[in-house]
Amino acid sequence: MTKAFRTLDDMGEIRGRRVLVREDLNVPMADGHITDDTRLRATLATIGELADRGAIVLILAHFGRPKGQRDPSMSLAPLTAPYSRVLGRPVRFVDWDGAADAVATLRPGDIAVLENTRFFAGEETNDPATIDRFAALGDLYVNDAFSAAHRAHASTEGLAHRLPAFAGRAMEAELDALEKALGDPSHPVAAVVGGAKVSSKLAVLEHLVGLVDHLIIGGGMANTFLAARGVNVGKSLCEHDLAATAEDILATADRAGCTVHLPYDVVVAKEFRADPPTRIVNVYEVAADEMILDIGPAAVESLADVLKNCRTLVWNGPLGAFETPPFDTATVALARTAAALTQDGSLVSVAGGGDTVAALNQAGVAADFTFVSTAGGAFLEWMEGRDLPGVAALKR
Ligand code: ADP
Ligand code: MG
Repeated sequence: MTKAFRTLDDMGEIRGRRVLVREDLNVPMADGHITDDTRLRATLATIGELADRGAIVLILAHFGRPKGQRDPSMSLAPLTAPYSRVLGRPVRFVDWDGAADAVATLRPGDIAVLENTRFFAGEETNDPATIDRFAALGDLYVNDAFSAAHRAHASTEGLAHRLPAFAGRAMEAELDALEKALGDPSHPVAAVVGGAKVSSKLAVLEHLVGLVDHLIIGGGMANTFLAARGVNVGKSLCEHDLAATAEDILATADRAGCTVHLPYDVVVAKEFRADPPTRIVNVYEVAADEMILDIGPAAVESLADVLKNCRTLVWNGPLGAFETPPFDTATVALARTAAALTQDGSLVSVAGGGDTVAALNQAGVAADFTFVSTAGGAFLEWMEGRDLPGVAALKR
């Protein structure tokens, strides 16, 4: 099947050709050590394939926010050795000064990381001179960094218009999964939207009500919807000023034939700390001095039944304050249900979001979902139905 975007399969013969590959190497560091190398491992498929096909592989990436300054504390040089260990292949480092000469010494199959793209102010402004500077080093361009694709920067978007452009394998997998989840999904489709605040996910909610059959609202944002419906949520996290907005979303869902699921039982506590005394109550029984910190077991059970009847699930945001036990209970239980249905072959499950990924890992089920996106901002913008500039530029 021909894909909507060009992939490595469309590159033809690349032996000896210089391929600029945009990757996301922006890994979390503490005391000079990488604390999570997920992003580095995600590059393996593309970089390995290009090197094996004899390309001269030149990796473009940003690191931190140097704001157009050559800040040595944000150099990619120290990352080269650990990255080389992850790839299991030698990796050279190429500084911006003398980059053309350094690249000219590389042989087919060689891999090099170029210095931080954000050392140029023109990276973030997508400035033609900066695009030229990058483009002069390569013959072809591959974008493999979905997580940076919501930004129209020189290395994420501009280059795709200057050189023949292709999606890398990680980008391709991400786009395929997202297409299956919301582009052209099997119905019924359920969306779980949780997390702290309605205000941070308004556009997501507004987009999803027109697309999905079931909208499951959990987390702190459920409190805002409950309050708008006249429930007294006590001391819970709640955006009372968004009551009218919440009502609008519910009305839109109703018109679109989307069933909205709000919890009818919840877990409450008087203090927000690990293992405080808790009560499980109907939402109408929350006391004035209590906080809703998770959705209740009856709600979870009925949501599990909803998922059993769905073919597709897209999930962003935990159902409760999952970092603090026992308020991870509902998130873990529903995640396990979704994982089991996925393994049975009855559900396509796609999840994303920083805290969501952490919660799925905590539940031990991330690998059992169809796809888990580690892209934060880009995943949310995709859930909002926005065209991501870095992706749009790869379309045929
Ligand atoms: P993601 O990073 O996956 O997009 P969010 O950042 O929107 O998710 O939301 C995650 C946060 O929401 C977590 O820190 C979690 O503790 C918080 N949260 C979820 N439910 C509640 C609740 N009932 N009360 C307070 N905080 C909550
Ligand atoms: Mg978050």
